[in-house]
Amino acid sequence: MPYPTRTARAVRLLSLLLCATTLTTACPLPAHAFANHLQSSSARSSLTANVDASHAQSSSYTSRLALYHSIEALTGVPWYRLAAIDQYERTLTVAHPRDRKHAERIIGIFITGPVWSGLMNPDSEDQNPRSIELFSGLGQDGSGDGIADRNNDKDLLFSIASYLGKYGNNEDEFGIAVWEYYHNSRAVQRVQQFAKLYRTYGKLDLVSQAFPLPLGSIYSYRSTWGSRRSWGGYRIHEGTDLFAGYGVPVRSTCYGVVEMKGWNPFGGWRIGIRDLNNRYHYYAHLSGFDKTVHNGDIVTPGQTVGWVGSSGYGKPGTQGKFPPHLHYGIYRDNGWADWSFDPYPLLRQWEQTERKALKTGKTKGTSS
Ligand SMILES: [Zn+2]
Repeated sequence: MPYPTRTARAVRLLSLLLCATTLTTACPLPAHAFANHLQSSSARSSLTANVDASHAQSSSYTSRLALYHSIEALTGVPWYRLAAIDQYERTLTVAHPRDRKHAERIIGIFITGPVWSGLMNPDSEDQNPRSIELFSGLGQDGSGDGIADRNNDKDLLFSIASYLGKYGNNEDEFGIAVWEYYHNSRAVQRVQQFAKLYRTYGKLDLVSQAFPLPLGSIYSYRSTWGSRRSWGGYRIHEGTDLFAGYGVPVRSTCYGVVEMKGWNPFGGWRIGIRDLNNRYHYYAHLSGFDKTVHNGDIVTPGQTVGWVGSSGYGKPGTQGKFPPHLHYGIYRDNGWADWSFDPYPLLRQWEQTERKALKTGKTKGTSS
């Protein structure tokens, strides 16, 4: 069943005619565009499957939140900042599972032995809070058992909170603390984005998703990830093209923070949104943006961020060089760069979930 709707037959035929050669030759249809920092992205689809381990996590949200609150009470570091670092660390583990192997626990923060015990400490697995302190290690005893265990939830979170607390609790001081910890501006941006999401909603369960186009509209899409493109030099197609008419609303697929918005010669008017799984959702060729959506703003699944168009392939304002459609791509941040993976399986999944929810009367995807 390669196509989503019966009503999309006309659009479907059109897109088939226009893009019949997509899989084997350079397709005349748009590619997409990416922000400059994404230009080096390469094809890597193997990460697609585990993107929503979040479902399995939902039962642990309550215990996680309780732990954040208890450490906030002890250290004065706001829970949403602890949650943000914890979540960022979790996404690093997804990206680097071999380097960050650790026992199953509530907290996802990973600290190496030398950092925990102190770089000059001859015992890199030291658990004695006093000797760790002597060697300026990060590890502390947060559980009160006299042991600083880098695999104990309370010890881990308390140690990180104590570290953050030393810098102070205003936004700038927090940013400096995170910078000093990771020495990576991308990490600082992510942690601040996550903290904003958690603070805004006051909860951890922010993983519901929506299909990028209203299910009631006429649209058509198929898997075209990885096909070659010709405009603007050799590139591969890092996304899925969803064909629809001008002006069909383009909706955020996730809870996220608007990270980029504006013109790019490839993607035309495009917008990029970062979610809590450290995925960057990229929407291109829009005819315009919703005026209420700005850089740094928070968006919810199903919220309109712009409209389908045919902008791109030229200087700002260029449009009509190809049929109107939404180019949708997803990139995963591995800590240093964004890597694209095929959004098609997720699109099918979100579409089906939302269709089922609509049938049963629930209005998923329009949550607030
Ligand atoms: Zn495309």
